[in-house]
Amino acid sequence: MDTLTPEQRSQRMSLVRSTGSKAEMSVRRISHAMGYRFRLHRRDLPGTPDLVFPRLKAVIFVHGCFWHQHSCPAGNRIPKSRIDFWTKKLEGNVARDRRNLHELRRGGWRVLVVWECQVVSIEKLASRIRRFLSVQTG
Ligand SMILES: [Zn+2]
Repeated sequence: MDTLTPEQRSQRMSLVRSTGSKAEMSVRRISHAMGYRFRLHRRDLPGTPDLVFPRLKAVIFVHGCFWHQHSCPAGNRIPKSRIDFWTKKLEGNVARDRRNLHELRRGGWRVLVVWECQVVSIEKLASRIRRFLSVQTG
């Protein structure tokens, strides 16, 4: 039984999101150090992107490998108990991600997905973010 109101649930989720990810903090720090202005977790956009650069019409998602099923060792692991539950849940996440990405792109947004496991080299990540954000759009 789910005893949380939708508000409580989304509050809890946003707490998890904003405190849970070291990877996201790295991406924020890097983008900030490059002088870019961004907003966090804009709920009015599909998938509530982690970082939104309104002037650049660009968004960055920082995805946990497990929850979003990255094709890496951390993502390819399904818990051994309640396999049906997890399979359904994780496949649902992947399908939702795909829909969100599609909708964002249709709305003219450029999208970068940074996977948690890719945040091992800050230099590599920084140059990837720089490349992504410095692209000139029309
Ligand atoms: Zn990964």
